[in-house]
Amino acid sequence: MPRCARPRRRPVSSSWAPWSEPASCLRSAARTRATGCRNTSRTPRARPRATTWYAEPAKVFDNLYFVGGKLHSAWALTTRDGIILFDTIYPYDSEELIVGGMRKLGLDPKNIKYLLVSHAHGDHIGGAEMLQTRYRPRVVMGGPDWDLVEKYPNRYKTMAPKRDIVAADGMKVTLGDAAVTIWLTPGHTPGTLSYTFTVLDRGKPLNVAYSGGTAFNFVNNTPDPGIRNFQTYIESQQRFAARAAATGATVLLSNHSEFDNAVDKNRVLAGRGDGPHPYELGADPVQRYFKVMQSCARAAQLRLEQQRVETAKH
Ligand SMILES: [Zn+2]
Repeated sequence: MPRCARPRRRPVSSSWAPWSEPASCLRSAARTRATGCRNTSRTPRARPRATTWYAEPAKVFDNLYFVGGKLHSAWALTTRDGIILFDTIYPYDSEELIVGGMRKLGLDPKNIKYLLVSHAHGDHIGGAEMLQTRYRPRVVMGGPDWDLVEKYPNRYKTMAPKRDIVAADGMKVTLGDAAVTIWLTPGHTPGTLSYTFTVLDRGKPLNVAYSGGTAFNFVNNTPDPGIRNFQTYIESQQRFAARAAATGATVLLSNHSEFDNAVDKNRVLAGRGDGPHPYELGADPVQRYFKVMQSCARAAQLRLEQQRVETAKH
């Protein structure tokens, strides 16, 4: 039995992200419960100290720049005709990390032409309203997540971009010499998006799978609707794994730097010399990640199925 399938006395009410330690769902769960997407659609009351979130921006590939923080990511894909920005972190740090980070790396935020928001939680949509208002990029998000933003104006105060492009499965966002393909991966939220695209490492093309929603922070502690929610999540992982395989993805990116260890990798990259690129995992490890995610979700789903049977007996 995989380690993540061990029965628990209490159902996990939150977040698993077995990303960088695939054998250890439990250890990752403990870490991400404190920091993952759970309840992060609300802006924190006070701005946390910068030491808790600030990270240096970095040029990671010839055409992809990290402008995120210690826990959450934003990525800028540069093209001949402007920039495609992935995710926008929180309202309190998007100015410094994204706008400030881009300027520090010599990129002009005015050139952001597309803003791709993986899902409508505050740690990813937080800077979208500010960036849309200021730089007028086209904003792409999943339909059900656009609906959330409109349905809960108080929850999304200061982070409610105006409805723009509704993502469809297989939709391509093309800008200059780059194209990002969008895949609908409901589960983490109903409208979660993931992406495949190509980056260049010293001129060599590498294919990226960008996972837009990791943690199990949907309703997951009662058989109804938990079993169904896990099924949605598992099927999305299966479909996206197949898309990643079809493109030959060897790089895996997350919208949480805490999950893909982006900040540590950026430090390694700075001293890379002639060594391998720290983000290039290989096709098999990328696929193993998706297998682990499916196994962990299935293990949690099995517990709920067991719970349902036990309840029916009594
Ligand atoms: Zn989230």
